[in-house]
Amino acid sequence: MFTASEISQIENLLTADKKIVIISHYNPDGDAVGSSLGLKHFLKNKGLDATVIVPNDFPKFLKWMPGAKKIIIADYKRKAAGEAIYHADVIFILDFNAAHRSGNMVGPWLEKSRAVKILIDHHQQPEDFDFVYSDVTVPATCQMIYHFIQALGQENLVDQDIAECLYTGIMTDTGGFRFRSTSATTHRIVANLIEKGADPAMITSNTWDTNTVSRLHLLALILGRIEVVKDGKVAILFLKRDELKQYGFQKGDTEGFVNYGLSIMGTQVSAFFMEDLYEDFIKISFRSKDDVDVNQFSRQYFNGGGHINAAGGKYFMPIAETIEDFKEFIEVEQF
Ligand code: 5GP
Ligand code: MN
Repeated sequence: MFTASEISQIENLLTADKKIVIISHYNPDGDAVGSSLGLKHFLKNKGLDATVIVPNDFPKFLKWMPGAKKIIIADYKRKAAGEAIYHADVIFILDFNAAHRSGNMVGPWLEKSRAVKILIDHHQQPEDFDFVYSDVTVPATCQMIYHFIQALGQENLVDQDIAECLYTGIMTDTGGFRFRSTSATTHRIVANLIEKGADPAMITSNTWDTNTVSRLHLLALILGRIEVVKDGKVAILFLKRDELKQYGFQKGDTEGFVNYGLSIMGTQVSAFFMEDLYEDFIKISFRSKDDVDVNQFSRQYFNGGGHINAAGGKYFMPIAETIEDFKEFIEVEQF
């Protein structure tokens, strides 16, 4: 958490005459959108207006969230996003740890901005900003926003909109309250959010019971050829661009696919390779169990990063070579 002195400095910064912008990461997920909107609603309840900007579009299954329609998607509204960042006095950086993670348009804007920058994030190895609240043991940035509200002594301002947004991010980033960093504190906060009006059944159904037939067909395709290597310890899944096109792929359709690899008994690592729809690179998602560190692995070999048990990266080779290289890299690893 921020120190008491930082909290009072931040309180002094947050006044109605300031232009406040909230930015989250490229390919925004439930925690990115939830923490950004949760903070925006909280600031609104403090009498402050904040603009939420994300670099690119986010999946349809997150658009039900209160305030989602007001988010500026920089890919579509370049001018509005650029101007808001340029004129910002205070920028909150949520759910990412380094400017480049907000993409090659927003990232440089963020770097150039002279606003006071406040980072709240749970990824490994954050860059330095004016105020940094980084904690890799917390499962979701949404939980950190709640802790931030507590540190300001303003839990009384948490209303149903905030509760729904923060609940969503905690639910998605913990894989439904299952992943390792899910703690008693997480559950206590979630209990508070439910008391404030978050409805678990509604949120689950809006966020997760949203399969399309094309998504299920894609899932069937990749599960049908899942490969397990290294004595059953590593699962490999992949999708090609042609297949994405054939099944009418839409953003978010492959969300969570990588987790199926980890559900196999005995696996330590799951890797999901997907050809980008437009550009010539492979997007990779890694998941791992226990102490197997895919953040480190992805940093070392795949230009990526993330968390110990959930990371992503990119590789600039055809998909077959990428998977061959991956198989070589894992030979020298401990898992
Ligand atoms: P996902 O596999 O869901 O795309 O990402 C898992 C985690 O790794 C997320 O927390 C995400 O922020 C991080 N991540 C995904 N892709 C990249 C990447 O290319 N670079 C870095 N540094 N982190 C990534
Ligand atoms: Mn997160």
